[in-house]
Amino acid sequence: MSCSSSSGSEEDDEGFDSYRKGGYHAVRLGDPFAGGRYIAQRKLGWGEFSTVWLAYDTRTSSYVALKIQKSAQQFAQAALHEIELLSAIAGGDPDNSKCVVHLIDHFKHTGPNGQHLCMVLEFLGDSLLRLIKYNHYEGLELNKVREICRCILTSLDYMHRELGMIHTDLKPENILLCSTIDTAKDPVRSGLTPILERPEGNLNGGGGTTMNLIEKKLKRRARRAVANISERRGSMVGTVEAVPSKAGRNMDGIDMRCKVVDFGNACWADKKFAEEIQTRQYRAPEVILQSGYSFSVDMWSFGCIAFELSTGDMLFAPKDGNGYSEDEDHLARMMELLGKMPRKIAIGGARSKDFFDRHGDLKRIRRLKYWTLERLLIDKYRFPEPEAREFAEFLSPILDFAPEKRPSAQECLQHPWLKLRAHEKTEQEMRKLHING
Ligand code: ADP
Ligand code: MG
Repeated sequence: MSCSSSSGSEEDDEGFDSYRKGGYHAVRLGDPFAGGRYIAQRKLGWGEFSTVWLAYDTRTSSYVALKIQKSAQQFAQAALHEIELLSAIAGGDPDNSKCVVHLIDHFKHTGPNGQHLCMVLEFLGDSLLRLIKYNHYEGLELNKVREICRCILTSLDYMHRELGMIHTDLKPENILLCSTIDTAKDPVRSGLTPILERPEGNLNGGGGTTMNLIEKKLKRRARRAVANISERRGSMVGTVEAVPSKAGRNMDGIDMRCKVVDFGNACWADKKFAEEIQTRQYRAPEVILQSGYSFSVDMWSFGCIAFELSTGDMLFAPKDGNGYSEDEDHLARMMELLGKMPRKIAIGGARSKDFFDRHGDLKRIRRLKYWTLERLLIDKYRFPEPEAREFAEFLSPILDFAPEKRPSAQECLQHPWLKLRAHEKTEQEMRKLHING
């Protein structure tokens, strides 16, 4: 259970290489599981540890997501851990109102590559990353962002306060809408009848069908980077280019309710497993510095996600460069946007000496170009000033360098920004006008 530096599930595919002993289980459409109760329909996604399939539950006549773990011992161990956490989650949420995915069932499945632990989860729709892509990396309307934020915060408040659990890998890929964006892909709305037995000659889950090849091609299109406040070398502050406008998709009909998934890296606050947690772009400063962490690491990731939803760009997408590491670049970018890190925090971690001198200045990146969240929203993303100010007021405390000063999910849920309904559509329209002319 280690962190990943990039998301697996949206880039390329899971690859043939891992379909071997100890690895993924190859699935054919129509394959039965758990003595015939679940029938595989199509692949929904994959991660470092598993492939996830749409399956038809013949007992309840409904669709479920079947997560089939790789078979090697460390993956089985991780799955047992995930099942423990998922059971606690479902157990404490009988009304299924806390915006976290529910575990329905679990079992073992033996195949040519070994014995695989399988989790049956409620079937959810597209990830927020897909939503961001579908929207051409333009920011979502703020009312939609608010709706999504409310769901994420509801789940975090539940995990943190009621369960004592830290997710540790919150990112757009791990938050799924409750419904699918594309009706044709929705097994219920599309009206397709479920596959109940294996058709002759279909290929295994490694891919190779025409549909798979098209999907692969689309996925290979690199994920666009990022909110470069300024390119580190050579450019000037103030020359922030406005994001070009593309014809936005109509997002009106899409239900923004969503749930948090992927508890493969989650832990109990009083029983942690790893020092290095979180996916790079959503990683909190105390994790980079190794100063210890708690619930507030999830709040940091949440702040990064809220920014990304409203602008279409990742808040921080660090790169290594000439003479400095990705970590140091990450810290520099944080400071350029949020101000200088207080010295006590900067020098307080086990890894501080790798990056900071004793004055609390970065060792290798000396000249920082300071900016503010509010200016960035106005100048680069063309937010009207009141919206930029209100949104920055909501985000800034969440992105505090001092973990203990960050508001809790419960406190965030009370924030006036989440209750705003003013400006409605005009805000988005004004941004388009600004960008176009
Ligand atoms: P891993 O632990 O291997 O990273 P995840 O739990 O993140 O696995 O699942 C991998 C992918 O499968 C997700 O990114 C998502 O696309 C899809 N997926 C996971 N759970 C569900 C679900 N309940 N409903 C629909 N799709 C799902
Ligand atoms: Mg995952």
